[in-house]
Amino acid sequence: MSSNRSSSKILGFINEDTSSWVVALLVFSAGAVLTALLAATNANLYQRQLRQRFELLAEERVSRIQDRLEGQIRQLDSLRRFFVYSDEVSEEEYNGFARPLLTFTQAYSWAPKVLDSDRQAFEQRARDAGLRDFAVRDLGGEQGLSVASRRAVYYPVRFTQSRSTLKLPLGLDVNAEPNRQEVLEKAIWSGDMTASPHINLLGVEPENSRGVLLVAPVQSRSHSDASAQGALEGFLIAVISLRKMMTDGLPASAEDNLTLTLEDVTDASSADVLYQSPAGAMPGELLMSTTLNFAGRIYQLRIRPTSVFMGANPSSNDSVVVLGALLSFMLSALLYVLISQRQRALRLVAQSTLQLRRREQQLRTAHSQLRNVLDAATQVAIVATDMNGLITTFNIGAEKMLGYRSAQVCGAWTLCQLHLPSELAAHAGELSQRYGRSIDPCEAMLIETVQEQGHQASDWTLVRDDGSHVRVSMQVSPVLDEQGQWIGYLAVCLDITERKRVEEELRTMSVTDALTGVYNRRYFQERLQTEVLRVERHGGVFSVVMLDIDHFKAINDHLGHAMGDHVLQAICERLCLRLRRSDVFCRLGGEEFMVLCPDTDGEQAHELAVDLWAALRAEPVDGVGRVTASFGIASWREGEGADALLLRADSGVYAAKLGGRDRIQAELD
Ligand code: GH3
Ligand code: MG
Ligand code: MG
Repeated sequence: MSSNRSSSKILGFINEDTSSWVVALLVFSAGAVLTALLAATNANLYQRQLRQRFELLAEERVSRIQDRLEGQIRQLDSLRRFFVYSDEVSEEEYNGFARPLLTFTQAYSWAPKVLDSDRQAFEQRARDAGLRDFAVRDLGGEQGLSVASRRAVYYPVRFTQSRSTLKLPLGLDVNAEPNRQEVLEKAIWSGDMTASPHINLLGVEPENSRGVLLVAPVQSRSHSDASAQGALEGFLIAVISLRKMMTDGLPASAEDNLTLTLEDVTDASSADVLYQSPAGAMPGELLMSTTLNFAGRIYQLRIRPTSVFMGANPSSNDSVVVLGALLSFMLSALLYVLISQRQRALRLVAQSTLQLRRREQQLRTAHSQLRNVLDAATQVAIVATDMNGLITTFNIGAEKMLGYRSAQVCGAWTLCQLHLPSELAAHAGELSQRYGRSIDPCEAMLIETVQEQGHQASDWTLVRDDGSHVRVSMQVSPVLDEQGQWIGYLAVCLDITERKRVEEELRTMSVTDALTGVYNRRYFQERLQTEVLRVERHGGVFSVVMLDIDHFKAINDHLGHAMGDHVLQAICERLCLRLRRSDVFCRLGGEEFMVLCPDTDGEQAHELAVDLWAALRAEPVDGVGRVTASFGIASWREGEGADALLLRADSGVYAAKLGGRDRIQAELD
């Protein structure tokens, strides 16, 4: 068995004997490794997807900012062309053109070129146009502006269209402040739009004050072929708040996926941070850095993801790990339970198989012993049947007793087929009367076993294979299984032919007179009782004829006792020849005889007596001569007892003796 078990495999490779703990641990480890691999793959995929999403968002943001920067240039250029192609631009015209352009620009200002010689006239024209206290001013003073000191050229702000509600710095000479002057000079020198480094914007809210100026020189068309200085009419200035440009129309920083840093790196030695998103960047590799050109300035835009972005793109790795660990644990637990149960079941099966084998061995031994016992009982026929009487076992004793082969009858014959049919039918009739219902002949030999506990053996006649009969004493007993259920019958048969013969012999001897061979007095008494009972119960008649040999003593005395015996024998032989088949001839003792005649009345008895008398005296007995006897007759009378009947017969004999012997005395009253 152990070899069978050791060859069994779980999952095709794990030995069955291996502890379920080891299997569960192996499976859990494999699950953990798979989970780690899956988590690594998932993390890789997540990082790739995260980068793709970030790059999409960042590219869109770069594109948007680039658009806005280019938009500044386009809008200022359109305003510049408006000035170039207009002979004179009134304030209303200026406002009407510039106002719609204030999308991402804080203000658009027009700063015309004013020579010192024209300053007063210029200021006067402005005041005449409604700007009270208008003057060309410098930065400084109590309110941030002061009347400008004299110089050759001024670029005072004449028109301003602003989104701010603060007081506008009208009259401020852009050329007065060094940073602004540098931009103007660059613009004049290049003749193209020029952006300033970062400056503090005037006339805008403090939070928007960090910005740049985009300056576009406006040249007169009529002086297009002249020098740049000479053709210059003034500057159009876009006031750009970097915070507004970078954030307008975009999600609030607390909700923004991205955090931006815009640096002015035109001067390679000192980068200048123009704008920094308030939202902090998440640590990591995700970064998009790009360079933007803006009117002569080089901006470095750096974009990183914020916690909002990371929150919107959570990693599913934790779930994968938890799920993987959970599945591994559940699978290993399941396998542990299954293997434990399987091993327990296998142990139980092994135990049960062992017990069954032991039991089978015991049964085989018991069966073998039983078979030996059955076969050893050669003088006893043992026949087992099922509940229907079909023979299942037929031992050697049965084969010897009946001449059939076991193979011939087992499974083919019923027990009743071995019986003498007439005997069975007769017994069935008796039983039918006893139990008050019809009993089948085949049931007849079994029903007493079923109905009567402790039923003794019965004598039956079985039919041998050669057709001869055998008398058996058959003890039928029930066969029970282990649960006590009745599963068949066991018939044990003893051959009682010899016993019956001896019994018959003894019986014959006990009722026969040894000298003459006729029935003796005991038998006569029995038959007389039977006959009395019969006629008393069923009616009818019977008679007795009694005879006593005359002078028998004299025969003994003269011829010897042996001759006397011979005479007795000879007389019996002679009389038996004259008797009817139904007559019962008995020697009562000495030289007295009695004939019991069933169904015989007194007259018929008398006729029989005459026959016997005549037969006796007809011929002499050898060596003795004629022997005679005296006869008395008595026929049964209703209500008469046996003794009274015999007394009457005896009295008849006595009367015949008295009457002279050798005669028949008619029946006495
Ligand atoms: P009766 O005519 O009056 O009958 O006279 P009897 O001699 O026949 O009668 P009794 O009774 O006087 O004698 C019977 C004799 O029969 C006596 C006895 O010795 C004899 N006897 C009885 N049994 C046997 C027997 O078995 N064998 C022989 N040989 N004689 C027997
Ligand atoms: Mg006598
Ligand atoms: Mg006599």
